[in-house]
Amino acid sequence: MAKASPGVQALRDVVEKVYAEAREAKKRGEPVGWSSSKFPCELAEAFGLHVVYPENQAAGIAANRDGELMCQAAEDLGYDNDICGYARISLAFAAGKRSANKFDPKTGEYIIDPNSGKPLKDADGKKVIDPATGKPKKDPKTMKPYSYLEDLNEIAALPDGVEKERRTAALKHYRQMIMPMPDFVLCCNNICNCMTKWYENIARMHNIPLIMIDVPYNKTDNVEESNVKYIRSQFDHAIEQLEKISGRKFDEKKFEKACENANRTAKAWLKVCDYLQYKPSPYSGFDLFNHMADVVTARGRVDAAEAFELLATELEEHVKNNTNTLPFPEKYRIMFEGIPCWPKLPQLFKPLKANGLNITAVVYAPAFGFVYNGLDEMVRAYCKAPNSVCLEKGVSWREGICKENKVDGLLIHYNRSCKPWSGYMPEMSRRLSKELGVPAAGFDGDQADPRNFNAAQYETRVQGLVEAMETNASAKGK
Ligand code: SF4
Repeated sequence: MAKASPGVQALRDVVEKVYAEAREAKKRGEPVGWSSSKFPCELAEAFGLHVVYPENQAAGIAANRDGELMCQAAEDLGYDNDICGYARISLAFAAGKRSANKFDPKTGEYIIDPNSGKPLKDADGKKVIDPATGKPKKDPKTMKPYSYLEDLNEIAALPDGVEKERRTAALKHYRQMIMPMPDFVLCCNNICNCMTKWYENIARMHNIPLIMIDVPYNKTDNVEESNVKYIRSQFDHAIEQLEKISGRKFDEKKFEKACENANRTAKAWLKVCDYLQYKPSPYSGFDLFNHMADVVTARGRVDAAEAFELLATELEEHVKNNTNTLPFPEKYRIMFEGIPCWPKLPQLFKPLKANGLNITAVVYAPAFGFVYNGLDEMVRAYCKAPNSVCLEKGVSWREGICKENKVDGLLIHYNRSCKPWSGYMPEMSRRLSKELGVPAAGFDGDQADPRNFNAAQYETRVQGLVEAMETNASAKGK
């Protein structure tokens, strides 16, 4: 793997720190919260409370190929397969389900999955072919055991001894799998209403307080004054609840500092997103997706702001030197609509690379750029999430991004998990394609549950989009 640039490394370190500090806080007996991604993080920051983010966690679990196991675990607990994959993963985790490495109970040896691992390479960097199969050999150092579902409650009930030790040792230890359990939950339904029931279930399961900010759907372009008042009054109640949880009084200075940091992070993040406008773009939408963890988990922290500013400086250098980080030449520029299929990132990327398609526009990433001045503007900023604005607003948002970022086509992810996002997508796609004069292709997938993605369908749709863009380009005499 290529060495990360200082900006990228700084961003990775920030996320590690957020999780590590939450684990430490839990060990010290301090309350740790679970928060929805667009809950106003500034409120908990004002109390110095440690908060982690189940959506970000679920994306990480899915990217680590444990999405199916955890989704199935939630279904076995009685949660419907139609519920968002992030919610299913989180509910399974909250119930004590974990992914573990499979071992043989007799020998205690891990059982290696022959399909795992990277190709073995020789001294010249060429893949080593197995003469018996004619296929590339796997590097044994990168091969992993099969995964199986473990239950923390079952392990805790075991008597001390070999079995307990082995099952504990087999638990996976990547950052998202060792996220501390919640002592309170912070829920804001500006992203969707699935969130409300998901967090209510967690609060009930753990018998912990739920702090809820209800954001009404925006039927018009503007956020109505009555809605601003309604939401501000909920902030007051949330502050009272947080005072009880933390045992501290609301600290206005800390709150102002958190707002300042959040604005600084948002501005630097939007600046990074804006570099996708350059032709060729120094960065890709896939790179932005990789930094979603920072903007979700750490936007109220000064180190996140500094790391994004550093990344923006690096991108500025790329633009000056006419270089980029894309591992292939940019032939066409496309918008990727929706959340990526985290368990299938290599499969998503492969046909894009093969056809020179660079993702230069995404809606998901800049949607986290909350810039505001004062409490009323903060409320208004948190009202503008992709799933809480009307179709007209959604079309004009995307149109602006696609024009600025000069896209030749639209690749639409019909994400089975995210019903509110995908439900209006056929009409959104039709209008956008017409307004922009560029073709659109859609594929079925899922952000967390790999059972809902079909690589062959995706490749065919990407191929169709390429052909339509070629036809469009020749018609325009490009
Ligand atoms: S917005 Fe979509 S992806 Fe996010 S939690 Fe809600 S349903 Fe799931």
